[in-house]
Amino acid sequence: MTTHGIRRPLLTVSALLIAALTHGPLVRVSAQARSQGAAPDLATVSATRAHVEALASDRFDGRAAGSEGAKLAADYLVDQLQRLGARPLPGQQDLRFAFQFTGGVKDGGSSVALKAAGGDAERWTAADTVQGLSFSDSGQVSGQVVFAGYGLVVPESGSFSYDSYGAMNVKDKIVVVLRYYPEDADEQIKTVLARYSGLRYKALAARERGARALVVITGPRSPNAGTVAPMTFDAAVAGSGIVAASVGGVVADALFKQVSGKSLDAAQQALDTGNPHVAGFEIPGVELTLDVKVTRERQTDHNVVAYLPPQQAGSPSVDKPYVMLGAHYDHLGHGGHGSSLARREEMGSIHHGADDNASGVAAVLAAGAQLAGMKRDRGIVLAFWSGEELGLLGSAEFTRGPPVPIDQIAAYVNLDMVGRMRDNKLAVQAAGTSSAWPRVIEQTNVPIGFDIQLQNDPNLPTDTSSFNAASIPCLSLFTGSHPDYHRPTDVASAINVADLDRVARFTALLAQKVANLPQPPDFIKVRRTTDEGGGDRAALRVFTGTIPDYTSEVQGLKLGGVIDGGPAAKAGLKEGDVIVEFAGRKVANIYDYMYALEGVKIGVPVKVVYLRGGNPAEVTLTPEARK
Ligand SMILES: [Zn+2]
Repeated sequence: MTTHGIRRPLLTVSALLIAALTHGPLVRVSAQARSQGAAPDLATVSATRAHVEALASDRFDGRAAGSEGAKLAADYLVDQLQRLGARPLPGQQDLRFAFQFTGGVKDGGSSVALKAAGGDAERWTAADTVQGLSFSDSGQVSGQVVFAGYGLVVPESGSFSYDSYGAMNVKDKIVVVLRYYPEDADEQIKTVLARYSGLRYKALAARERGARALVVITGPRSPNAGTVAPMTFDAAVAGSGIVAASVGGVVADALFKQVSGKSLDAAQQALDTGNPHVAGFEIPGVELTLDVKVTRERQTDHNVVAYLPPQQAGSPSVDKPYVMLGAHYDHLGHGGHGSSLARREEMGSIHHGADDNASGVAAVLAAGAQLAGMKRDRGIVLAFWSGEELGLLGSAEFTRGPPVPIDQIAAYVNLDMVGRMRDNKLAVQAAGTSSAWPRVIEQTNVPIGFDIQLQNDPNLPTDTSSFNAASIPCLSLFTGSHPDYHRPTDVASAINVADLDRVARFTALLAQKVANLPQPPDFIKVRRTTDEGGGDRAALRVFTGTIPDYTSEVQGLKLGGVIDGGPAAKAGLKEGDVIVEFAGRKVANIYDYMYALEGVKIGVPVKVVYLRGGNPAEVTLTPEARK
């Protein structure tokens, strides 16, 4: 059934629908009943289906933050909120709250020139022949050339290690490396090497060895042979401290013409065995000049936030008069942003995001419609975030500059992927943030009867983290991941609408219960047992107790906090400090930090250089073993 079907005999039906939506019983209008204009049996109209089908339709184009599709989705939300009777927050005129973010990177016309001894310079500018890498610094660099194989550096672990540089001195040189990793190595080695084959890793390895620039070529024996690496969106706004570009086969051939007795194909073949001892070599008598121009595009998007003022049930005034329900409405568009899991044949298609997170949005709208008619001592804030897929940008922006005092928010309930319930199971996460939660959840669940899975940790890859960081008691509802996650196949027809309607009802009852609590829930800061970002195995073993602030746009790693009693706290680091050097390695952003973590050992003190209020300082930090 499509929304259009419902529309034709709409008037009476829509009035009934709104009544159904407002008062929350589950209803579905049979086609036959509609064609006969019969009054629908209120018991079967879904409170959420229409929202999911609308938001996950092609019209919204996958709702990538900053896109036309996201704008349409924001318009849809504003319209639905007005229909259910919500209004702007006190002191506000509009439901939209704008925020800026780095939404994309573009190549601004990079070029590469090659001058061989005694020969004329050749220069290339075409986009399919030279392209800056998304994290590259912009700049012009010239220098002699060294070929460093796959440019991989894998820290020693156990018996295995791999270092494409070996004893080679690449200081002040331009390093040329192959994309990907050895093609014919055995699977086990490939798995390890793959983890270090990201281009940003290769750039950091070259930068760490003093190289002036990095040039990436796609070898003749690799997939996409001879093509330039596409500019993938990289959320880290800061550059990487090195000029880096990818060049096409024509440039690679011109380079290897200068190497006597060795073709690129032969060089790659030797490396593709996976043998770590195949050395790199100089490309004599050649000077390369790279002129890389990478522009980071600032974009604007909107959070949509509406309000249902208190409708007193009991005491006239309460502490912390706002209860927030929230869900992100953005998704991945056509998958251009880094976290798409589309299979090769799905690449570029609309990522409909029905479960992630049209389901959460639909449930918050439906709960809002129900709450509009329910008694409550606190006001209900209905919030819809954008930029979640890019790093919780919208919710972080809200908590950084909230339109209502942050300490007046009694609680935040987040819904992210609640549309694919299986076996009546509902995960209620972040339950450790208040001692009030277990009882409130249990009481709320009585009329619904979910098999509730309580989880305490609030440090989740969703908007709850922004509110936990602001010391607000929060919960996050989740019905579990599935093979369609972050793929175009996450479609409306796969949504379990009947249980999603129950989630909406549960959410309305939960919000009402919190709204009528005589005392607002207390906040408990849940001690984190792991640090943020836990990338690869080596870093996973080491515990430093830092909490990166993902949304900051400074050079370095800004701390969103430190873990009580952790190494960083013991060293005297605190929220707001910006780490610029760690264990002797320059840190321009989170990636550099992860990279630096690879090289530290448990119990061995390291020097940390940081900025506090712009002033440089240093401490000694002793990494501990992760518990
Ligand atoms: Zn999501």
